[in-house]
Formats: sequence, C-alpha cells, structure tokens
Amino acid sequence: MSEAVIEAENKYATGLHKKRDLVLVRGSGARVWDSTGKEYVDCNAGHGVALVGHCNRRVVEAIQAQAERLVTCPETFYNDARAGLLSTLAEAVPAGLARFFLCNSGTEAVEAAIKFARLSTGRKEIVATMRGFHGRSMGALSATWEPKYRKPFEPLVPGFHHVPFGLPETIVEAVTEDTAAVILEVVQGEGGVHVAPPGYLEGVEEACRRKGALLIIDEVQTGFGRTGRMFACEHFDVDPDILCMSKAMGGGVPVAAVALGSRVGPLPVGVHGNTFGGNPLVCAAASAAIEFIEENDLPGRAIALGARFKARLESIKSPLIREVRGLGLMVGVELRQKNGPYLDALVKAGVLALPAGGTVIRFLPPLVIEPEDLEFAARALEGVLSNPPE
Ligand code: PLP
Repeated sequence: MSEAVIEAENKYATGLHKKRDLVLVRGSGARVWDSTGKEYVDCNAGHGVALVGHCNRRVVEAIQAQAERLVTCPETFYNDARAGLLSTLAEAVPAGLARFFLCNSGTEAVEAAIKFARLSTGRKEIVATMRGFHGRSMGALSATWEPKYRKPFEPLVPGFHHVPFGLPETIVEAVTEDTAAVILEVVQGEGGVHVAPPGYLEGVEEACRRKGALLIIDEVQTGFGRTGRMFACEHFDVDPDILCMSKAMGGGVPVAAVALGSRVGPLPVGVHGNTFGGNPLVCAAASAAIEFIEENDLPGRAIALGARFKARLESIKSPLIREVRGLGLMVGVELRQKNGPYLDALVKAGVLALPAGGTVIRFLPPLVIEPEDLEFAARALEGVLSNPPE
C-alpha cells in the first residue's frame, strides 16, 4: 500500500512539498501511525493544527452531526452553526475585538486583514517584520520576509516595509501618517521561534496609536492556547485592532477568522467575501474545538507542560545546541547545523517535529500530549544529537 501511495503522490502532486518517506494513515491524541503500523509521537501536529489532539471525540462528533444536517451555506443566509461559532469566538478573544470575518486558511485571514486595514485607514503602507511569516498569496507574501519565498514572484504588492523584530525604536521610525497597519507575530514561528521581548508589543502599539495606524497581530500559529494563553498577545499589555487566527481553530478542519476592533470599518457590503467561509461543517467543528480547549484548560496545560519540556531540552548537554526558546508548548531548539538531517533522524526515532528556518527544530505538539510522550521526544532528540546523522 505504501509504495502505491508514494508513487501516486510523486506522480500527480506538484512536487512543491519536501516529503518525508512515510505514509500517515491514522491519528489519536498526540500519536499518529504510518501504513506499516509504526507509531510516532506527533510534535508536528499538522503544522500546529491538531492542538486538541488527532480525532478529538468532541470534534469528530460535531462534524458527524453537522454533516448529517447541512454542510454548505453561504454567508448570504443565516445559519445556526455559524451563529454559534461567532458567539463562541466573541467570548474567547481579547476584549475589544467584537466582529469576525470567517475564511479558510491563515493566508486568507492575513489577506483580509491587510485589505481591511487599507480600507479603514485610507492609507496604503504596511510595516511588517524581518523573519516574519504571514502566508504566500501575493498580499500575505508581501508581508512575509523570507527572500526565497518572495523573489520568484516579484513584483509583489507595493507599500510593504520590513523592520527588525523586537526593536521598538525601528517601528517608531517606520510608522508614519501613511501607514495603514503594522503586522507581526507575537512569537515568530516559521522564522525560528522568536518570542517578542518584554515591552516590544506595547511600544509597537504606542507607535501605531500616535500615527493613527492599525495593529494587526497574526496569531495563526500561536492562537487557541498554544503559548499558554488563549491568544499569545494576552501575555502582554496590548490591544490589537485586528487579530488573525486559523490552524488550531477547527480541531483539524480548514477554517480561519479575522477578529476586528472598533477602529476597523466601515466595511461596505460586497467589498470582500468568499464562498466557503463560515460554512456550517467547519463552524460546528471549530465551536467544538474551542469549547474543548476552554473546558479542559489547555492553555494552562501548555504553560505547565511547556515549562517542563523546555527545561528538559535545556538540560541536554550537546555542543550542537545553540539555544532553546519558546512560549508554552511552542518550543524551538536552535542547532549550530542545518536541521534537515536531524528531523529525518527524529522520524526514525519515532518523533515528528518540524523545521523553523534552516537551523531550528520546532515542537508544536497537541496540548493534550502526555508528559511521557514529551519525555520520549526529548530523549529522542538527545539520542539524535549524541549520534549525529551523516
Ligand atoms: N501566519 C502565520 C503566523 C503562520 O504561521 C502561517 C502558516 O504557517 C500563516 C500565516 C499561513 O497560514 P496557512 O498556511 O494556513 O495559509
């Protein structure tokens, strides 16, 4: 079975994704199984999506029940599952965010955020950060920093500027009367797991307020408890005008939202929209996932397990480790070498993780993971580092 699957994907898919040589067929909680029956501790979690665990019962049952009733319903009609999700989101997000645009991926959320910021301010300029990642459509890519993603597609959308992450003074200089918004992550994920230093986000917000620019916080990767708070910006004293969320939101299904504060709008009818956004199937799944996160205090679990896991990784005595960084259960181990061979070796040892930049091994496990599984992952990393791959 495995050979046929690999052959079909290699033959018919684009080749855009660097593949690992295994066929995943089943998941439960923080474990996944390949087609040979081998079990893995999943600290990749579908790039951070499976935060409530694979095949979470609550989410599975919500999807099954909704699939029997109504799967599709555009936003031009009212729908009970959508109203339920909107009400759940309104309770979950930081105070001051009151309305939501529903869409299907992190990139789409960022795209909408950029459009709403330009529309609300009548300004064109967007300030983003070096090492920031916001997606790969032309607008979102314009906010993304990595030159190898950007270069082949230039010219991108005009009006975007990048400043170093973590230095409030560079934002103060960059934000002017022409700035529609600053967009940034609280913890840069793809860029290498870099946590915003104390006072930085507050400084960014102040610079925005002074010049009448909006603050867009991209919580596509950090949202829904990953860092130890429902949203990572809640670790700081900051009030975003626009908050982008996706990944963990749907318990595994593709869904995203943009939360909007009082400075955003008015948004005239028809100025933005989509076909699938807010469809009942994903709304039911997302409501179930968010309720599960809240009722089981997964943010609290991320704090407790994250602190233990980070300390355990820090205890690994290896000259290959430059630094261990993170917030909650979003943890990066920066190596002094390229991460690729180490990620492959981890797969062999039964642990799935993911890269962040060229040298960081990133762990984004489900927050339902058991401490023993985190210890297994730490021991696997220790083994791989003490016996480096060729
Ligand atoms: N923003 C951030 C912070 C992300 O980490 C990602 C994806 O990793 C995106 C946006 C893009 O999201 P998606 O891949 O769902 O389009």
